[in-house]
Formats: sequence, C-alpha cells, structure tokens
Amino acid sequence: MNVHGPVFGMEYPMIAFCGARPTPDGQVSPGLARALVSVTIHEVGHNWFPMVVASDERKWTWMDEWINSFLQYYAEKDWDPAYPSQRGPAKNIVGYMKQDAQVPLMTESNDIQTQFGNNGYSKPAAGLVMLREQVLGDSLFDEAFREYSHKWMFKHPQPADFFRSIEDGAGEQLNHFWRGWFYTTYANDQGIASVETQPGDSLLGASRAGETYYRIKIENKGGLVLPLQIELTYDDGSKELVKLPADVWRRNELVFNYGFFTKKTVTQVVLDPKEVLADVDRTNNTWVKPNTIS
Ligand SMILES: [Zn+2]
Repeated sequence: MNVHGPVFGMEYPMIAFCGARPTPDGQVSPGLARALVSVTIHEVGHNWFPMVVASDERKWTWMDEWINSFLQYYAEKDWDPAYPSQRGPAKNIVGYMKQDAQVPLMTESNDIQTQFGNNGYSKPAAGLVMLREQVLGDSLFDEAFREYSHKWMFKHPQPADFFRSIEDGAGEQLNHFWRGWFYTTYANDQGIASVETQPGDSLLGASRAGETYYRIKIENKGGLVLPLQIELTYDDGSKELVKLPADVWRRNELVFNYGFFTKKTVTQVVLDPKEVLADVDRTNNTWVKPNTIS
C-alpha cells in the first residue's frame, strides 16, 4: 500500500509513504509528477528489498538501497524510455568519483559522515548497472541476480553472500570488480597513450601485404579494472566499436596494447564513447590522426 504521507519517501513492511503534494490550487508541475513517480517506484520496490531479501540496512545501506535504486532505474525506463533517471547511468556518478572526500562502499552506515546519498545509493547503483550491462552482460547478470534473490529471500544476506551468489550464478570470478568498486575509492580513468602503425608485411610477411598493423597503447590510470570500449573511425567514414572484457588487464593492470590489422586507415580512436564506464577524465580518451582533414 502506498500512502501520501508527511515525509517524501519512507518504506515499511507492506506500506510506503510518499510525498510530492500538489500546490493548493491543484497544480502539479512535470518535475513534481516525476518526483512522485520515482519515489513511488522506489518505496514500493522496498517491499522486495529489504522486506523479503532482508539485508541489514543499519549496517550496509547499499545492500538494499543500491539494489532498489538499480531496479528503480529499470522501472523508470520501463515507464518511459526517455526518463531522466538520476541514479543508474554511469556518467551521473563521475562528479562524485572525482572527489577526494569519499569512503569505500564497504564502510558501515554509521561511519559514513558525508554524501550518504552518493555512497549508499548512487555509486552502488551505477556500479550494478555497469556490472550488468558492461561487465557480465544482461542475461548472465539477470540469472545470477535471480538466484541471489531466491536463495536469500526471508534470510539475512551479508555483503559476501551477495558477491558469492553473483559469482556462482554467473560462473565468473569478479574479485577485481568487488575489490575496486567496494573496497577502494579508485575511479576509472582509461587513456590513450599512443597509436602506432607499421606495414602489415613487416610483421607477418606477404600474407599481410597491403594491410596496416595498428597498436593502440591504453593506460589504466584510475585504479579500477574495467572492460574496454574502443570506437574506431576509418577514412571511409565507417565506425567500429570494439568491446574487450576486463580480462585484458590480467597480466598488466596498468598498460594494455590493442593490436589489429586493417586495410583501411584509422582517423580517430575514442575510449568509452558512450560514457558507460564512468571515466573521470575524458581529455585523454580521444586520439585523432595527425593531419586529418575533417
Ligand atoms: Zn530506499
């Protein structure tokens, strides 16, 4: 049950209170209407997290608020694909990730002194969207998340139970992701250090004659270990988006060289072109071929 209450939004078992009152003449601005939609989705969502999957929010705010904010993001998109969601999109957390005054998500709720909303809701929600859409992929994540929810309903999961459930369900080790996103305040800053070329046949002989070998040197300056998305633009105007898993950093988590052969000429390289990896410094994300006339 959702009741119009004196506070903007608060959940209780089987009842939620949501604010957003029209002005005395009955007017409801678009912003107010949206606030009511968002808060209703959010508070009703708490019927499941933490009321059914009963995590300890006194100790770990993020364990129910992030999952709920994450589900709120998808419910908002369901309501309206163009919905201006605040929590969920990676680029909305960049401003916070740039700040020094952060504590790791694995800080117990009572010890979070500042930016409770960003720490308890926004950063973990953005991380979960990233884990689903960029690290694991929708279907693998959803299966693992469903398994976590079933396994832990009417029980009291702790952070490690969540981490383990997702790894078990997805069949992938994610310790790099948990460590980076939850135990540190590292940000993501991937940058293009250089783009080198050499004739293909100088590398592999006649079989590659007429092709160019490109070597894109990418530096990982932020500390987080995340997948790579590299957008290549060729001289014929075509574009290609190369997606590489976080495993590329397995041998060397500071530098990775992406090499490939092509018969075309690359005119531009952009890292994270869709801004889905919360890169905090985009000034080093673009390389343009010198003397390219556009
Ligand atoms: Zn909440």
